[in-house]
Amino acid sequence: MTDRVTQSLLDDKARILERLMELVRQPSVSADPAFAEGMAGARALLMRRLHEAGLQAVQELEAPGGHAAVYAEWLGAPGRPTLLIYGHYDVQPPDPLAAWHSPPFAPEIRDGRLYGRGASDTKATVTIAIEAIAACLAAGVCPVNVKLFLEGEEEVGSPSLRPLIAANRERLQADAVLSADGSRASVRLPTISTGTRGMAKMEMRLSTARKDLHSGRYGGAARNALHEMARLVASLHDDEGRILVPGFLDDVRPLSERDRADAAELAADDADFYEGFGGSPYGDPDFTLRERLTLRPTIEVNGLWGGYQGAGSKTVIPCEAQAKITMRLAPGQDPARAAGAVKAHLLARCPAGVSLDFQALQGQSAASTLEDEHPLLVAAEKVMGEIFGRRPVRARGGGTLPITSVFKETLGIDTLRFAFGMPDEDVHAPNEFFRLSSLEEGLRAWSMMLAELGRLKSEDFAPFRRAVG
Ligand SMILES: [Zn+2]
Repeated sequence: MTDRVTQSLLDDKARILERLMELVRQPSVSADPAFAEGMAGARALLMRRLHEAGLQAVQELEAPGGHAAVYAEWLGAPGRPTLLIYGHYDVQPPDPLAAWHSPPFAPEIRDGRLYGRGASDTKATVTIAIEAIAACLAAGVCPVNVKLFLEGEEEVGSPSLRPLIAANRERLQADAVLSADGSRASVRLPTISTGTRGMAKMEMRLSTARKDLHSGRYGGAARNALHEMARLVASLHDDEGRILVPGFLDDVRPLSERDRADAAELAADDADFYEGFGGSPYGDPDFTLRERLTLRPTIEVNGLWGGYQGAGSKTVIPCEAQAKITMRLAPGQDPARAAGAVKAHLLARCPAGVSLDFQALQGQSAASTLEDEHPLLVAAEKVMGEIFGRRPVRARGGGTLPITSVFKETLGIDTLRFAFGMPDEDVHAPNEFFRLSSLEEGLRAWSMMLAELGRLKSEDFAPFRRAVG
């Protein structure tokens, strides 16, 4: 069954595609000041469309020293939920240009795909979201209150996001965030993103003596800092990849049957996983590949250095070694506790005379999880089920999405990524594309999602909101 609003969107598909292509034509590269005009062009185009669609308070939210966000709202559904619709209009630099089969900012349709920088990440789903709201308003009323917040700095790490939210806290108050950024986890199966892993970081310096030593005069009787560091980092895992740090896994929420069933459904996507990067199978054998990639925590040494690295050889016993470590955290883990367990483990293995100092690094966050009964998740599962004729698979992401924790920390609200790009669409790479079939799916889904959420009340979200100071 297709309702009136959804039908009008499908009837209007050709024009919506044209608007998407016009947006892709704007070279909105946030990283390079040479593209300032493209950034302004994308903002102007979006604001014109939002205005024309009947949204109110259409404006730029200034990000001092950065790129402004585009904002618009429609608050004509009293008592209904208010959704903060998040997206970004900036894109990655198009380099290397020579690798593109058609120019990155001259969108082209080939084989049912729209090619162009930003097509998949994330101008298509942003367009879908705007057009779904526009169609509701054209039909008379939007089922929910909406506040559109389109950032211009996502591709450079959102440096102004926190100050922007702080300066506009009242304006951005909402019951939840529906994000047009993200992508589906599988090209075969409909998926819903229910969370991502968290992150903890540390840097450490190990020393064994006051100075580097001559290996002829001291060798055999002095500790070598690189050997000691190698021994320490090797003690973090067993040979198969099981984490050996006492206490590190204690708070990890055990996998539910649903977790394991959903991970199993996605396993077929992993058939050529190792071939894809020329690696060989590795990882905790008590868990499947997909579980290890998304549901379990990791400890990784990202950098390890010390000693002589110049030409030829140098017969030295280095007195100092350094390492950088990051951890991807599973639901249940607290970043400080997880990092604390790793520190305690390493310190306990330091022999007398070896000292280890840790430096804290910015950017710790716990895993984010949309609770099973969260109204956004319940609604999305219903909508996706209707569109695809089967229960969507819940797929956690292995990465860390700072934006999700920023919204939780600053506004106290949860985020659902409701985006329709696919995982293979070469985002950030040459020849980025978006499948035109996803345009229709996305329009249907966003239209049905707004209608579904419109059956709820704002207060239905209250149990999931967190008070923030
Ligand atoms: Zn991106």
